Amino acid sequence: MVRYRGHLLAGSAALIALVPFVLDCSEQSLQTAQTTHPMEAVETTAAESALGLERVPQDIRQMLREMDDANVERTIRRLVAFGSRNTLSAQDDPARGIGAARDWLEAQFEAIAATSGGRMTVELQSYVQPPASRIPVPTRITNVVATLRGTQAESVDRTYVVSGHYDSMCTDPVNAVCDSPGANDDASGVAAVVEMARVMATRTFDATIVFMAVAGEEQGLYGSTYAASQAKAAGRNIAGMFTNDIVGSSRADTGERDPRTVRVFAEGVPTAETPDEANIRRSVGGENDSPSRQLARFIKEVGENSATGMHVNIMYRRDRYRRGGDHIPFLQQGYPAVRFTEPHENYAHQHQDVRVEGEVQYGDLPEFVDFAYTTRVAKVNAAALAALARGPAAPKNLKIVTARLTNDTELVWDANPEPDVAGYEIVYRETTEPLWTDTIRAGNVTTYVVPNLSKDNYFFGVRAVDRDGHRSPVSFPRPSM
Ligand SMILES: [Zn+2]
Repeated sequence: MVRYRGHLLAGSAALIALVPFVLDCSEQSLQTAQTTHPMEAVETTAAESALGLERVPQDIRQMLREMDDANVERTIRRLVAFGSRNTLSAQDDPARGIGAARDWLEAQFEAIAATSGGRMTVELQSYVQPPASRIPVPTRITNVVATLRGTQAESVDRTYVVSGHYDSMCTDPVNAVCDSPGANDDASGVAAVVEMARVMATRTFDATIVFMAVAGEEQGLYGSTYAASQAKAAGRNIAGMFTNDIVGSSRADTGERDPRTVRVFAEGVPTAETPDEANIRRSVGGENDSPSRQLARFIKEVGENSATGMHVNIMYRRDRYRRGGDHIPFLQQGYPAVRFTEPHENYAHQHQDVRVEGEVQYGDLPEFVDFAYTTRVAKVNAAALAALARGPAAPKNLKIVTARLTNDTELVWDANPEPDVAGYEIVYRETTEPLWTDTIRAGNVTTYVVPNLSKDNYFFGVRAVDRDGHRSPVSFPRPSM
């Protein structure tokens, strides 16, 4: 047994510590891993750390280099130029209103799909919302959706969704005619999604990726609620959902800049937790180990490196005070989901009529957007999506065996279906640690006993590794007799 101890960073200087999690784990190394007591385990050396930093695959590095802030800027400025993108604004005016923005986004995705060799398809997902909060009259709500089909039969149904919302608002959410530029909230998120679609469409991924621009967010998450409920009704396997909302500025209202940090909001206790799951959590913990938290840890591990130039700041909450986002309907349907948002928000530039008061310019204008920052956030998303969609699914049906009291820890799980899975890794950490700290290469097995490390003293998880070294997110076990 070879154990790697990696301290997954607490600051930008710790980027180098990423390593154990991006070290190549070839089939051969998995199969030849020797069994040793964990206390005699191999420590990661500085040389391995330096090597690990280069383990973002070269083709993904190249893909990230192709992401261009000039494209992000163009998309944001074009969306702003539609004047209003309020969900209640004109749907049939070719120049102004949400309908014009919808048609323009559809055309962008169609042009990108033309480069995909037939693997990307574009659809308008649409329904009529009856009157409700912030919806005074029946209103058609349309999501613009581009789907890049996976190329591995065993993974094509496994889907990752990345979204931004293309609707916007000024001070009054039901004012359909005022200018609501929404450059940061959320043309920035939509521009990130379009740029990701552009570079990913020409590349292949085992699993399916859905790029989505939704409407109705400002009226009450209507577009994403519809998308999530349709996915659930169709039994779709959404293994992860990212929303990008307000990813346009690194500048705080104090003027301070933090251009290399993005917040990833990830809930602890699952929104859709069942009473049984709640009982287990109260009994043995796990409130920091929801599927969304594992997804956030995965994003940090693969998204924080020299190829993105970004630090990922996981936030242990579903969203900010008094705010929500398009990940929440996916959480409500039981899908793991997180929200990307800039590190410091400036409320003078959100949901405000464009105006000057005294010396202060209010309004969500492009002049307050840092296009290079938005592009870096998009790179974090793209690095994580690529790793997820190239990698295997998280192991299913993982159990921690509790049939007898022992100071060993026994784990069992189902074999992954993908033909290129080379084996599994046990990860663990002290119960007070925020991130996985230790890894054991278990080999290509579906049960593993960790000797003399008590399940009472550590949290354990399991992830799958494929022949190219792609890891899945971690599965967290339930107790089993
Ligand atoms: Zn927003």
